Amino acid sequence: MISDQAQISRADLSRATGLTRTTVSDLVAELLQEGLVEEIGHAPSGGGKPPTLLQILADSRCMIGVDLASHEFHGAVVNLRGKILHRFSVPVYNPDGEQALERVYELVDGLLAYCSIPPLGIGIGTPGLVNGNEGIVRRSVVLDWRDLPLGGLLHSRYKLPVHVANDCQAAALAEMIFSNTHKTPNLIVVKIGRGIGSGVVLNGHLHMGDGFGAGEIGHMVVKENGVRCRCGHFGCLETILSTPFIVKQVQEAQRRSPSPILARMINSVDEIDFKLIIQAYSAEDALVKQVLSTAGQFLGIALANYVSTINIERIMLAGSMAVFSDVLIQSARQTICERTLEALGVGTSIQVSNLGNDIVVLGAAALLMQHELGLA
Ligand SMILES: [Zn+2]
Repeated sequence: MISDQAQISRADLSRATGLTRTTVSDLVAELLQEGLVEEIGHAPSGGGKPPTLLQILADSRCMIGVDLASHEFHGAVVNLRGKILHRFSVPVYNPDGEQALERVYELVDGLLAYCSIPPLGIGIGTPGLVNGNEGIVRRSVVLDWRDLPLGGLLHSRYKLPVHVANDCQAAALAEMIFSNTHKTPNLIVVKIGRGIGSGVVLNGHLHMGDGFGAGEIGHMVVKENGVRCRCGHFGCLETILSTPFIVKQVQEAQRRSPSPILARMINSVDEIDFKLIIQAYSAEDALVKQVLSTAGQFLGIALANYVSTINIERIMLAGSMAVFSDVLIQSARQTICERTLEALGVGTSIQVSNLGNDIVVLGAAALLMQHELGLA
């Protein structure tokens, strides 16, 4: 409650929580002792003694948040309000499992070196299937990990609490805890970049699923007889909407019927990469828009299944593909409306997360806030 409110008095805490004044007073005394909360002067008196206001001491603890899903490992020291105090990155080039783990140690060593306030622990967002309860990465193809006890290894090396989650699931928690948009207890974050995944928050808590794969929409087959995916199936959402496949589709479309805007930007079709597609999109290139609009329909198919199954109305987009949100959202929304009950489709909002590239790092920190401080 103190964390949710900017400033609050003991009396208001008692009214809001239903706890007695004595209990509130005892609990606040504990928090003051631990240095998590501070007294910041008096509120105007309504007659009688003016009440003392309390607030969270944002810099009383820091959190180490780590994102292993970007093209380089990157992490940050984050305070209790989600403010990034320091960043550190470690480059990685197609690592094998052992090298990837060494790079994680290097990254955390680097971050801890900059920790001038007591760390609450280490939070990790990693690609792959993660048993969040035990901190075990069951399978990550990208990092070449299978049943890696990442949480346990980090805990014995650093003697700090460690929490591990899938990167997209961590992103959903970040949106829940740190976003300054209107708070809702349920939400979905869909992260689209080199891969695609999503995270689901239900009643304020991350829903990981029985097999920890809740939200794995990247490998939902949305196109019959589609392209072969790295998972072995054909026509997964990832084979349509992830950045490498968008690049391929734009290249193919440009070969079939060249767009003059793109043609002016390149000497050969092979030069088309993701950066160039962003430039062409800003220049309102019709071919790029068409490819994205079609891809957005397939996003809509996956989201329609989601919406019909759990009817969560707040969907947020994150990841590098979010730069194309205008066309993707418009196209996905239309498909959702075509494929769900009208009332469900109309009630669903899709927006871009404003947490940007820090979403996984903040989500990793949010894991600590939730598990170590009970904040939601
Ligand atoms: Zn797949």
